[in-house]
Amino acid sequence: MLSVLDIFRIGVGPSSSHTVGPMRVAVRYRKRLQAKGLDPDRIEMVFRGSLAFTGEGHGTFRAAKLGLLGFEPETIDMAEAEAALTRLNKDDALPCGTQVGITIDYETPTRLHPNEMVMIAWHGDETLDRRTYYSTGGGFIASHAQLSKPAPDDLVGMGDASPNPFGSAEELLGICARTSLSVADVILTNEDAKRPRTDTLDQLDGIAAVMMESVDRGLRADGLLPGSLKVKRRAHGLWKKLNNAPPNEREALFDWLNVYAMAVNEENAAGGQVVTAPTNGAAGIIPAIIRHYCHDEDGTLQVGQTRRFLLTAGGIGLLYKQRASISGAEMGCQGEVGVACSMAAGGLCAIWGGSPEQVASAAEIGMEHNLGLTCDPVGGLVQIPCIERNAIGAVKAANAARLALHAPGQMIVSLDAVIETMRQTGLDMSSKYKETSQGGLAVNVIEC
Ligand code: SF4
Repeated sequence: MLSVLDIFRIGVGPSSSHTVGPMRVAVRYRKRLQAKGLDPDRIEMVFRGSLAFTGEGHGTFRAAKLGLLGFEPETIDMAEAEAALTRLNKDDALPCGTQVGITIDYETPTRLHPNEMVMIAWHGDETLDRRTYYSTGGGFIASHAQLSKPAPDDLVGMGDASPNPFGSAEELLGICARTSLSVADVILTNEDAKRPRTDTLDQLDGIAAVMMESVDRGLRADGLLPGSLKVKRRAHGLWKKLNNAPPNEREALFDWLNVYAMAVNEENAAGGQVVTAPTNGAAGIIPAIIRHYCHDEDGTLQVGQTRRFLLTAGGIGLLYKQRASISGAEMGCQGEVGVACSMAAGGLCAIWGGSPEQVASAAEIGMEHNLGLTCDPVGGLVQIPCIERNAIGAVKAANAARLALHAPGQMIVSLDAVIETMRQTGLDMSSKYKETSQGGLAVNVIEC
């Protein structure tokens, strides 16, 4: 079953569902063909649903080709990948000579998830193999067979030796009350059943390091982002301004959270390395909070605080993944930026000393005020509204944590209730607002 390390995964921009997922599908299919000893003369990749509508802007087809070439999101060397892709594009063939074809299918309805990808291996006119996959958000993928099977249960940690399995926020809070453990400690003891604790902590530290590198790269880089919109990077200029004349206003907090969040999402938009948190489109919120609240004055990362923050935020992310979805194509942006805001609010509340109930309350507030948030990326690029939306989400997360810490008593809206509300709202939402660029800003902003 799921681990917090599944929620935070190192990948490349601009999208976990439309870039990382398709790359993983292609890698998986390549391995399948090798395992079956098949040697097709052509591999056709068919993209349906949201992958068809926004695949071009999200770098989907390019990522899938890279997957067929054997590149994986965690280890990809971008310079090597570019060179290999140029060679492939020259004659549409892999180094072994197998032709690669892309079919963008806007017509066929998707079946189990709006991000559908069909892989077909051909020998002449004969189909050697055919397999349907789904990119289900946050870089997760599943074959048609896997997604057709009903989940055996929805308890996080069930199916392995996890000492504290839970399937809802209510159950999680019950465990905290019974054991006197914090949310972070419950998650960590469950992770202990999967691997030695030192490995978990090392991996969390590695995740935080990649997050901070993406902040730093984004703060340093300047110029235009790739794509037709010609969006100018803003983080670098704002960062210089903040450093030259550190703001002495009450509102300075906004500037710092804004600049860190935008730095990461500009890197994501440029196809750089980021960590899904829980998705690429929403990758800036959690690093912004870590950078602002888990660093000493001299810039040293507070390791203990960062681990507690990530474990708590990751535990909340698991609830959304298990009980609803973290896919923009299923839930709209409430399932991406909304979930990231909720995770960050809960994590921040934890490092500010909040009780498990206050942590859950912060997470609930973080989502409650993102309910109904649509996904309508202009030009199909993960830039407008995505980059600014992460800045707003980071500030909102800090505010949600403060509200929860100062709340007078038990919350009326539970975290479980808001997760279910997000799920139902996502199901009711028109597909125009679910990563298809067919509504909202995507149709009202004129591309120059
Ligand atoms: S609007 Fe939100 S869900 Fe849609 S691509 Fe941008 S960040 Fe992702």
